[in-house]
Amino acid sequence: MFRAFLKVDAKCSACGEELHHHRADDLPAYLVVAIAGHILLSATLWVEVKYSPAYWVFAVIFLPLTLALIFGLIQPIKGLIVALQWHMGLDGFASARAQRRSA
Ligand SMILES: [Zn+2]
Repeated sequence: MFRAFLKVDAKCSACGEELHHHRADDLPAYLVVAIAGHILLSATLWVEVKYSPAYWVFAVIFLPLTLALIFGLIQPIKGLIVALQWHMGLDGFASARAQRRSA
């Protein structure tokens, strides 16, 4: 459903369902920040309390972990948001939902 990393294609390549109606906007980024923030903050505090390492150790551990979490989560979460909008018939998906229900 993506034509680029975060660009949703106008139509599904498998079934032709129109996807250009989606309005994911900032919600995927907000959810990624909330999820990754909880994981990273907990892990950072745990490492600090347990080991109290030097600051460069935090940078070596948590900068790559932060980037991995953010880039690993953003596309699946955006896909989930678009799928939820499609499933619930929000915005322009309302007509597609009505067609699914009548079929
Ligand atoms: Zn499809």
